[in-house]
Amino acid sequence: MSPTQTPTPKRPRGQGQWALGHLEPLNPNERTKKDDDGLNVRKRIETIYSKRGFASIDPQDLRGRFRWWGLYTQRRPGIPGGKTAVLEPHELDDEYFMLRVRIDGGALSLEQLRTVAEISTTYARDTADVTDRQNIQLHWIRVEDVPVIWEKLEAVGLSTTEACGDVPRVILGSPVAGISADEVLDPTWAIDEIQRRYIGSPEFSNLPRKFKSAISGLPDIVHEANDIAFVGVHHPEHGPGLDLWVGGGLSTNPKLAVRLGAWVPLEEVPDVWAGVTGIFRDYGYRRLRHRARLKFLVDDWGPEKFREVLESDEYLGRRLIDGPPPPPHVEPIDHVGIHEQKDGRFYVGVAPLVGRVSGSMLAKLADVIEAHGSGRLRTTPHQKLVILDVDGDKVESLVTALDAIGLQARPSVFRRNTMACTGLEYCKLAIVETKQLAVDTVAELERRLADLNEQLDVPISLHLNGCPNSCARIQVADIGLKGQIVKGEEGFQVHLGGGLGLDAGFGRKLRGLKVTAAELPDYVERVVRRFADQRTDGERFAQ
Ligand code: SF4
Repeated sequence: MSPTQTPTPKRPRGQGQWALGHLEPLNPNERTKKDDDGLNVRKRIETIYSKRGFASIDPQDLRGRFRWWGLYTQRRPGIPGGKTAVLEPHELDDEYFMLRVRIDGGALSLEQLRTVAEISTTYARDTADVTDRQNIQLHWIRVEDVPVIWEKLEAVGLSTTEACGDVPRVILGSPVAGISADEVLDPTWAIDEIQRRYIGSPEFSNLPRKFKSAISGLPDIVHEANDIAFVGVHHPEHGPGLDLWVGGGLSTNPKLAVRLGAWVPLEEVPDVWAGVTGIFRDYGYRRLRHRARLKFLVDDWGPEKFREVLESDEYLGRRLIDGPPPPPHVEPIDHVGIHEQKDGRFYVGVAPLVGRVSGSMLAKLADVIEAHGSGRLRTTPHQKLVILDVDGDKVESLVTALDAIGLQARPSVFRRNTMACTGLEYCKLAIVETKQLAVDTVAELERRLADLNEQLDVPISLHLNGCPNSCARIQVADIGLKGQIVKGEEGFQVHLGGGLGLDAGFGRKLRGLKVTAAELPDYVERVVRRFADQRTDGERFAQ
């Protein structure tokens, strides 16, 4: 080009947005989804793979469409972290699966609890983890057993439909929906209705990426970290309804959700949910997987344009009502402990350590709950369990019985506030082990810091991730730990001082601050002792 020629402006590259006519797949994941809907793999699992075994599974189904039914291959045991990049997928895949059972709103009956427990002991080597999205994950599942597991789950109203994959995942809901005296309204109807209308429907079975939803009458569902969230709020003229948030997501490039400034009455929640999900399906970026979450579109458009498109004839076709924000919450609400319900009975929240339970523990839990006159429980987004509807005169006996099976209603600050993702034990993306390390670290901290029990009356959250993804929400923890190799061993990059609610913000990544797994208890002990020594009256850890 001669110096006098003006350069032709570069045409922006298409991002694979369907609404702009980019219908040809731009990467292998999009190709797999276009070739065949992920939901269709169920039939092949039932009629072919479960009969002919693991070796018969088509690789595109195995590493792609199986997720639409909650199935991921586990990491082959013995493969160290940090080595995965040099391995072929088949070298990393074990022949067993993780199976995610979706529990929308976290609501479980005794019958459902017993069914999950029985599946765990019969088909999953007694494994079970309560996740930070209110699901229960089982491990060591064989493809041969999947149809019978589905049959058992579906007979009691549970499923694994769209528990993973580029689809609307489980809908978070308040563990105390319908029983809390503080909630603005009980949105359970909307959760059930969205599930009935849209989960498992081809309308939303090919989204650019996963899509996380949360609906609660209280700010107790980590709403800032979801693609879409509805949070209870009183409108001065219209009364109780829900405030709409979009575009949250942690992982790499973390972003907190933003408000659209719209107040939504309960009966309109499913339509508004479908409108936002439709925008994501049509305008979401499909070129690069790491830019495909809704948060990138929301960031580029801004909340005003997003709301305008949502209200357009293409989606809702009507104006939303402007509304106020919900009151900010000061501390995460985890529902652990003993609390009164609005009907005068009580709910009891217990802390399984880092969400790890087992089929046999869940079976014992069902018996304990039943013996104390309760018939239902809830999972929480903090890897906890909440038992509902306990009469006042049975509370203490229930707490003692729960303690005897390892579920504490009055846990230490560390047991209560430590979360860990799946990590190296089963996850193929992991660089380091997390769950056992977290369990050992909590035990060590309880022993070493027993002298501070009285002083530590504020939450200090410790979240461990096995890789740069953020399944355990490290950016919003007081002490967030991102798994990586440090000094040639398993270790963590430290992020300090993250929080949600009033203190919403990401923890500071202290560049030079990395600890090996072996150094972790020493490091946390030092930080907590310094906080206890220098703390002013009423000061919280994140301040
Ligand atoms: Fe796996 Fe990483 Fe998520 Fe942990 S954070 S479960 S290691 S993807």
